[in-house]
Amino acid sequence: MANALHKQQQFGLRGLSLEVLGTDACTACGSCVSICSSILALGDRIASVAECGVDTGRCYHFCPRTVPFPESAGLAGDLGYKGAVGSYLDYYIVRNVNLSADNKYQYGGVVSTLMSRALEVGIIKGAVVTRSSNGFPYPVTASTREEILKAAGSKFALSPTNMEVNRAVNNPGANLGVVGLPCQCTSLKKMQLYPGKAEKEGAISIVLGLFCTWSLTQLGWYRLLKTIGKTDVDRVDLPPPPAEVMEIFSQGARHEIPLEEVKEQIRPGCHVCLDMTAENADISIGMVEGLPGHNTVIIRTEQGKFLFQSAVDAGQLEISTLDDTRWQHLAEASISKKNRAINNAQNREEALPYYKRIIKLKERIEKQ
Ligand SMILES: Cc1cc2nc3c(=O)[nH]c(=O)nc-3n(C[C@H](O)[C@H](O)[C@H](O)COP(=O)(O)OP(=O)(O)OC[C@H]3O[C@@H](n4cnc5c(N)ncnc54)[C@H](O)[C@@H]3O)c2cc1C
Ligand code: SF4
Ligand code: SF4
Repeated sequence: MANALHKQQQFGLRGLSLEVLGTDACTACGSCVSICSSILALGDRIASVAECGVDTGRCYHFCPRTVPFPESAGLAGDLGYKGAVGSYLDYYIVRNVNLSADNKYQYGGVVSTLMSRALEVGIIKGAVVTRSSNGFPYPVTASTREEILKAAGSKFALSPTNMEVNRAVNNPGANLGVVGLPCQCTSLKKMQLYPGKAEKEGAISIVLGLFCTWSLTQLGWYRLLKTIGKTDVDRVDLPPPPAEVMEIFSQGARHEIPLEEVKEQIRPGCHVCLDMTAENADISIGMVEGLPGHNTVIIRTEQGKFLFQSAVDAGQLEISTLDDTRWQHLAEASISKKNRAINNAQNREEALPYYKRIIKLKERIEKQ
């Protein structure tokens, strides 16, 4: 009996391949890459390239879309329901005090400012951030403020951030900050809680999560860039409704692509994603509707609060109140994303275990 159960539940590469890797549930977060030589990434294409006989492995346990192990069972986002925007300590409207036309910040520059501050006060020794080359995103470990600033700005195609985390935690004395999308933050929290991590205790010290409604495949992003004939991208933005376009700035010129065309290139794994506000990060950061040059900031953990307060006390960030109307709107948008994801999971032909788990959350979310 015990043997039969064991065969059903496989917690290694075999289980990962049956449940997530190579299926439409995979987010290309990169958490199963750079652990061993059996899984490789080419851009955002993640594939197993060798057999592996290990019954239980980090690849399976780090994945944001596998069953939580006991220590990670309390996590939110794709793993559970903790209220419309997850649990939090506080929230604000925030911006960097030195915003100027020269900055490459996406909005208020809060992400780059907080990560630079973490480096400055010694909370971290390196920051895993996302840069781009010829318009394509890739993860790097930055060890100076200048390197962090070079990664400012949003890249709307997926980059396997956590593969760089898996590589960098092996450096002696690694002490990392990571900027990640919500799916990546869930996995980072799983890594922090993983019981077998003894020698790497404390290797990930701060996780800054970006709000995210969807992300594009790299192939899809390539197709979109082809339509405007550019690869040297300076900035990409999604202006609020009624503008139904993606704006791409390249060599001083502005190009637009209809949002309808852009959305055709969304990664399938994003259509079944429950997490808009990076519910498992230390601090979550997004835009503020109707207020350009500012960020919505949700402080979730004591470590996040300490870093945030340190940047405010140093005069680097300016904060103001996030009013009830905006907060309510954010909560509604977050719940809408969860409901959409569950409906999509119900309509998919393949009955993957991840889909079954999120469908079970439906009742709790509807009570909201
Ligand atoms: C794919 C994607 C979808 C998003 N969707 C929304 C949304 O629906 N609503 C919303 O309010 N905000 C969304 N954001 C977040 C928003 O675009 C800003 O990143 C956020 O408000 C922080 O602004 P900032 O000025 O503080 O960032 P900056 O100071 O400019 O720093 C940006 C940081 O983002 C990191 N980054 C850039 N691209 C990626 C990527 N692909 N993967 C991981 N890290 C990356 C960079 O490394 C950098 O550290 C999205 C971001 C991305 C990348
Ligand atoms: S979601 Fe991430 S960890 Fe899971 S299979 Fe895909 S790339 Fe690997
Ligand atoms: S929508 Fe979800 S799965 Fe897709 S990139 Fe954003 S957080 Fe990851």
